[in-house]
Amino acid sequence: KNKNCRRHKNIRLDGMSTSEELGRDEAPHDQDFPFVRLEEIFLVTHNFSEACKIGQGGFGKVYKGLLGGQEVAIKRLSRDSQQGTKEFRNEVILIAKLQHRNLVRLLGCCDEGGEKLLIYEYLPNKSLDATLFDDSRKLLLDWEKRFSIIKGVARGLLYLHEDSRFTIIHRDLKAGNVLLDAYMKPKIADFGMARIIGDNQHNENTQRVVGTYGYMAPEYAMQGFFSTKSDVYSFGVLILEIVTGIRRNSNSQTMGFPSLTVYSWNMWNEEETEELPDSSIINASPEEVLICVHLALLCVQENPDDRPLMSSVVFVLENGSTILTTPNRPAYFARRNVEVDELRKDIHTSMNNLTHTEIEGR
Ligand code: ATP
Repeated sequence: KNKNCRRHKNIRLDGMSTSEELGRDEAPHDQDFPFVRLEEIFLVTHNFSEACKIGQGGFGKVYKGLLGGQEVAIKRLSRDSQQGTKEFRNEVILIAKLQHRNLVRLLGCCDEGGEKLLIYEYLPNKSLDATLFDDSRKLLLDWEKRFSIIKGVARGLLYLHEDSRFTIIHRDLKAGNVLLDAYMKPKIADFGMARIIGDNQHNENTQRVVGTYGYMAPEYAMQGFFSTKSDVYSFGVLILEIVTGIRRNSNSQTMGFPSLTVYSWNMWNEEETEELPDSSIINASPEEVLICVHLALLCVQENPDDRPLMSSVVFVLENGSTILTTPNRPAYFARRNVEVDELRKDIHTSMNNLTHTEIEGR
């Protein structure tokens, strides 16, 4: 009798009927997790109309809709997902259980008629890259906000790596996958996608590299090895983008150095870290900037074992400076040393005739 009751209990996303009512007994379902009917999705997205589309990513198009009175973002996965219905449902239920204030909440899903759709909470302030690299929108990000975004992303990533019920390696952490809420608080998007679309997350070695060039750790980009430490690498690149407002692969803004990591390492090494923050930031705290850049450079070291754990990163961000080790040259720098030296020669310099005397005690 209990079993029957459970089967007929309607799961609702704030009053919305769901595909529990369809009586699909063969596929796993979770009492608390809404499987939404495709016809409702058609209705709220006006048959996936262009007017409702808010974005397009590697996994498919994203639409905005109103479900059960709540604004939601609906991700329509492209049809090359390797996952069968049962596995898809299992993974979605599992990923939806990961909840943290710095993760975009997965609210429901739909898998009918060959469609696979994920329903997320809607975040009104777009992705971080749309703000960080936009000349007028970036003014919304003063130092306090940027520092709090760095801390929020770090906490979200720490949760995925160490505090959730199972370890999740994001594999594609980047400014485009950090969404901002109404208060400009950051939430990490697209975590657990490898599991949902059926890529082998458990293997820690993949044929299918899903990351984004410039954020990917060298061992992942070149050999397909991923670990929490490859996420730490991406996080390091992200910190540098947030502090400098420079895209990871822009060489017009990095004084001829081949990447943001190399440029930043050089500035840090020459003790010019205070020159790194975006010129639009007027109130940057030199101590906090130094901590962020130092941490970022520790995160982008070539050897994964040299990179810190997210727990250490969060500790330093929240408790201020402790004695940090000296970062090694970033991966790119180590391999392209000669080319960088060549590049540096090409930078036009002018002669400075001033002398500077440093007085030291005998
Ligand atoms: P990639 O798939 O390569 O990582 P991406 O992160 O831009 O690229 P998606 O995560 O599919 O791709 O998102 C595409 C766009 O849709 C985002 O940039 C964002 O503007 C919008 N978007 C995605 N999810 C949400 C959401 N929950 N709330 C508001 N907008 C969203």
